[in-house]
Amino acid sequence: MRWTRRTGRAKLPWRLSARTLVTCSISTIIGFSAICASVMIDLRRGEEVRARQALENLAAGIGADISRNIELYDLSLRAVAGNMLLPEINEVSKPIRHLILFDRASTAKNFGAIQVFDAKGRLAIDSATLDPLPDDRSDTAFFQVHRDRADAGLYVSRPAEHQGRTAIVLSRRISAPDGRFAGVVAGSIRLSYFRDLFGQLSLAPGIGITVFGRDGTIIVTAPFDQAAIGRNLARVPDVTRALSEPSGWSSSSGALDDVPRLLVWRNAGGPLVVVASRSWDGVYAVWRNEAAQIGALMLALIVFVLAATQVAAREIQLRAKVESRLERLATTDPLTGLKNRRKFDETIEIEWRRAQRAQVPLALLMIDADHFKCYNDTHGHQAGDQVLVGIAVCISDSVRRAGDCAARYGGEEFAVLLPATAQADALHVAETIRNKVALWAGEATNTSISVGVASVTPSRETDWTTLMNAADKALYMAKAAGRNRCITVPVPRPQPAAALAA
Ligand code: GH3
Ligand code: MG
Ligand code: MG
Repeated sequence: MRWTRRTGRAKLPWRLSARTLVTCSISTIIGFSAICASVMIDLRRGEEVRARQALENLAAGIGADISRNIELYDLSLRAVAGNMLLPEINEVSKPIRHLILFDRASTAKNFGAIQVFDAKGRLAIDSATLDPLPDDRSDTAFFQVHRDRADAGLYVSRPAEHQGRTAIVLSRRISAPDGRFAGVVAGSIRLSYFRDLFGQLSLAPGIGITVFGRDGTIIVTAPFDQAAIGRNLARVPDVTRALSEPSGWSSSSGALDDVPRLLVWRNAGGPLVVVASRSWDGVYAVWRNEAAQIGALMLALIVFVLAATQVAAREIQLRAKVESRLERLATTDPLTGLKNRRKFDETIEIEWRRAQRAQVPLALLMIDADHFKCYNDTHGHQAGDQVLVGIAVCISDSVRRAGDCAARYGGEEFAVLLPATAQADALHVAETIRNKVALWAGEATNTSISVGVASVTPSRETDWTTLMNAADKALYMAKAAGRNRCITVPVPRPQPAAALAA
């Protein structure tokens, strides 16, 4: 232990307290948890971005295939519509007419026959046969749209029964050179085309594809859902956006099938819009798994750290308790319970410096039992000890201010240090002690005490021994004056250097 110059206090080596340990552990746990949470949030965001990119690619791929096929089919329809205007077309034989009209017509597994309807909606020509059966389509939407609007362009119908299969009808108007309505050329793409297309993809669970017509009608879905086909979702906000924005995404809370989903669309401006979707459950499935594992690890780590902290904190507390008990023992007089000489010497040094700094008086009482040798000789050492304990109790009872220090100075001598106490007040305390001892021990043991009192405001040039010497001198005077009394003497001021020289 060493004394610091500034405070005069013993500078103890830094010790880790239980509270500091717990604070550090909790701070570490909070810090690690925050870092972990932030990493998990980043990972979650990454999963979301990856899912969005995958759905974008899916929607773009499917959209491109559908657009290419519709374009090819449309080219065939345009060619037929154009060739129908050739003046010779009605003069040549049916096989030649077939060759002229359908030579460039696309034929594929899922494409229906191309049919030409006259201005009244009656089937005039069919690419599948030279002699088509009579058929009147004047009541169908595709016929009426072209009849009523010259600018309808390529019209794609809702899914319906066409040529015996569920299909969408693609149609174009045949306009005479003077703009007059001359009929409709129509073909169809069967829904089996879409099913085949989707069948080539291996879609993870939770991934869905919905193909919409421009009016918001569901053309087809994957996984296939017969009940959804033909439903119009034009009023659903997410679908409205998908129909109007070229590309984008949204988080739908069950617009398509009551399952909260991530929707991504690619809308190349063709007659159909592809929306790819994935349930949020599916998007976060892997992440959730990882989060659960990391969370469990973190939890185990936290529990371990807390348990270790608790054990260490308990150990520190126990050690601190033992140390403080040892310190108490090392600074306490075992017989009287007052501070011992060692502690008193430390305290007077500290209080002297404090009083020096604050320029307040410091008082000292030196107390000595009168004729104690005689008492011991008469009543024995044990009885003498009891009297010393009694005197200590009287002293403790009279000295109650925080900062006061009552100590057994040695043998039957006691010392009381009274910070910020002037001479008169110190004398008053001394009298109180003496009276208490007289009251307690006077009749029974015939014991009294003599007290030397001194008080001084420390100057820079002196040290506490001047106070000690004065109190000792006062005690000697009290003994000489007959004992059982308190005497005070002034503490001599330090002599100026000039006076000393003279
Ligand atoms: P005076 O009034 O001049 O102080 O006389 P005195 O007899 O008290 O003084 P002296 O210094 O001659 O004797 C001190 C005695 O105190 C000697 C010793 O027997 C006794 N004493 C010192 N320490 C203890 C102690 O711990 N227990 C007991 N019982 N007696 C002690
Ligand atoms: Mg003595
Ligand atoms: Mg004595």
